Amino acid sequence: MPVVLALLYVLCHGLVLTLWPGSAGAGSFVFLTGAPVLAAAACLWRGQRDRAALGWRATALALLLWAGGMGVNMLDALGADRADITPRVSLLLYVLYGVPLVFILARARRERWSISVIDGGMAALLGVLFFVHTQSFADRIDIDNQAMANMQRMFDIQNLCIAVFAVVRWLAGDVPERRSFFRALALYALVYLAVAFYINHYTAEQSFGAYNDLLIDLPFLLLAVLALRQAPAPGFVLHPRLGRLVQAGGPIILPLLLLVVGTLVVDHARWLAVAGFVVATLGFSLRSTVLQMDLLERQAGLDELARRDGLTGVANRREFDTVLQAEWNRARRNGSELALLLVDIDHFKAFNDQHGHPAGDRCLQAVAAVLKTTAGRAGDSVARYGGEEFAVIVSGSALSGVLALAERLREAVEALPLPEGSISISVGVGYLHPPALASADQLLADADAGLYAAKRAGRNQVMLHAHVLDDEGNAHGTLDC
Ligand code: GH3
Ligand code: MG
Ligand code: MG
Repeated sequence: MPVVLALLYVLCHGLVLTLWPGSAGAGSFVFLTGAPVLAAAACLWRGQRDRAALGWRATALALLLWAGGMGVNMLDALGADRADITPRVSLLLYVLYGVPLVFILARARRERWSISVIDGGMAALLGVLFFVHTQSFADRIDIDNQAMANMQRMFDIQNLCIAVFAVVRWLAGDVPERRSFFRALALYALVYLAVAFYINHYTAEQSFGAYNDLLIDLPFLLLAVLALRQAPAPGFVLHPRLGRLVQAGGPIILPLLLLVVGTLVVDHARWLAVAGFVVATLGFSLRSTVLQMDLLERQAGLDELARRDGLTGVANRREFDTVLQAEWNRARRNGSELALLLVDIDHFKAFNDQHGHPAGDRCLQAVAAVLKTTAGRAGDSVARYGGEEFAVIVSGSALSGVLALAERLREAVEALPLPEGSISISVGVGYLHPPALASADQLLADADAGLYAAKRAGRNQVMLHAHVLDDEGNAHGTLDC
């Protein structure tokens, strides 16, 4: 349906050109201004319902600026020409048209506002530099043929940059919404590039009002059709590394263009050129710093996640292994004592069977929480060792203190006010002092043996399994108590 309407639009435009030929007829201008306005409306409509909303809205803004430029041309044609103002205004609007597009091409994804402000600043200055440069040619067009060629070249560069970056962003699109936005923008920008090149270089002698005007409708109508079609874009995807490279490197378009255009204006607007260089350098550094901060914070969050058990929030098995080894090394260096409590919930399978798995999960969370608050000293660390088993590392405590803590843990779990009723735990204690001649694995084996003994002895109790050491640290039998 949108395609048919677009064809009708061109047909009507053609009819108007046939019936009222010549540049004086304002009819063609109505169509030339209407096409980008229609495309902008389609983009705004799409922006209402799409995750790539900002892209569609920025594109709509660009199209409205372009339509404004064409509207001013229409005023000229209607005879309201103010030679001192209107050419400059239309030129300014055509130049500004590129700014929102470059801004959106530089954005990797939904960015935080500080990055948007930095990009916005760079894009705005780029618009100013571009305008100053183009204006310097425009002033000399009547006396200097070269000036016209230079101005056309500037627009070619702008259009080419937009088209190339849009194609690259399309190919590197990571989510379907962004891919379909950049696909629409890329196809539009390619057709626009071709049409603008043809019109500027091969029909420059003619003014508006000829059949060439029909060509100008095409990119805008194409974009409108693509914006109205919500079918997902075809899904050929670049290699993920290449995709990430484009996303990470895309923002370079802004400082790069600032440096290029800054170099071009250095002769006739030195201070603006310097501002361009400074803003390009500072803007990109600032942007990188903000992104780096984000990455570091996200990395810290991920590191933390990798160390935590997802269900209970206490340390996970990997973190437990690391902490045990570190505490072991410390205890051996300092000659201090080290203890390990292995905690296992009694008859937990029956609990699950009776009350269901979700209730079992909540029970595990409650047990983990009470273990953490009860064993809350600086030298204590609680981890989920496996299924319904927890481990508590206790460093720098005498044996009596360790056993008292184990007993407090048992009592605290027993006193937990669970909706399903009371539960109990068995605790196996491993203790070595000094630990110099044993290993962390030995401590673990001791705690496990203590736990096994506690289960065998009827559950809901604490059992120590310790090596009896002589003065040289040699083990002489074991002790369960
Ligand atoms: P015992 O007194 O001998 O320890 O008996 P038990 O039933 O507690 O021991 P067992 O090791 O046979 O059962 C452990 C149960 O723990 C089996 C499993 O259903 C439950 N379990 C393990 N991990 C989870 C978990 O993440 N969530 C829930 N809800 N249950 C779990
Ligand atoms: Mg159990
Ligand atoms: Mg178990």
